Amino acid sequence: MTESRWFIEHFDSAGTAFGLRLTKKLEQVQTAYQHIEMWETDTFGYLMTIDGCTMVTSRDNFLYHEMMSHPALFAHADPKRVVIIGGGDCGTLREVLRHPGVEKATQIDIDEMVTRMSEKYFPELCESNNDPRAELLFIDGVKWMQECEAGSVDIIIVDSTDPVGPAEGLFKADFFRDCHRVLRDGGIIVQQSESPLLHADTIIKDLHANMREAGFTSTQTLPFPQPVYPSGWWSCTMAGKGCDVGSFRRDASAGKTFETQYYTAGIHEGALQLPPFMKKALG
Ligand code: SAM
Repeated sequence: MTESRWFIEHFDSAGTAFGLRLTKKLEQVQTAYQHIEMWETDTFGYLMTIDGCTMVTSRDNFLYHEMMSHPALFAHADPKRVVIIGGGDCGTLREVLRHPGVEKATQIDIDEMVTRMSEKYFPELCESNNDPRAELLFIDGVKWMQECEAGSVDIIIVDSTDPVGPAEGLFKADFFRDCHRVLRDGGIIVQQSESPLLHADTIIKDLHANMREAGFTSTQTLPFPQPVYPSGWWSCTMAGKGCDVGSFRRDASAGKTFETQYYTAGIHEGALQLPPFMKKALG
């Protein structure tokens, strides 16, 4: 919701709101799936919103994109084939392709316009789109997963919008069952899992249950800061197919060959230590 020169997103269920001072509105487009708006902010660079919800800003997206990718890639023994469902801004794709061992990364977003807008306003996030290992598809991720060959993928990253509208199916047990089938043994799925403070005993708890019901043998939520999302605190939840997502290749992580702005081996280790209130909420 916009008030004078501010973009303010109200989180009615939590009784809170987050605002960014605006310089100008740049563009808006109604696609078959959602309403995308681009803004220039005073202090956070460009802002993309979808259906009035904050998606990406220039200033803080690194927190999300690094934590959606590197913990899973370092938890896996040897990730070669990665699939990203959603993630149309291409920031997660860029982080995945920083891993030299990755042979192919496919991004599947339902809405091509998200990527076209990102290319225009967040070119830094799209800098790996022409990497020969990158493939960009624009179809429904639920459908793609239903049709994908069994045992053909090492890591699935679900970088989706909130669990309403086109993304609703991406949080359901049926989708996780398809992901489980598509993953090789030792494979990992990671899903953006909302706020630890606001959603631990609802969305996050259900996510663990749905992932385990689908056959995953270990699950782990990793919290991380995210100023522009509800409560300023966000999370990803990983699940392993016969592997432990509570551990990772620490030496490889500490000796990584690329720069990051937030992720380190120490941050990864710390994120695996859940605070007592979360342990209690997740049972
Ligand atoms: N970091 C963001 C957040 O949590 O707010 C998510 C960013 S990313 C832009 C989310 C993407 O998920 C959108 O581009 C949207 O088009 C895509 N999406 C939603 N439902 C989808 C589906 N069923 N299949 C593939 N992509 C989907």
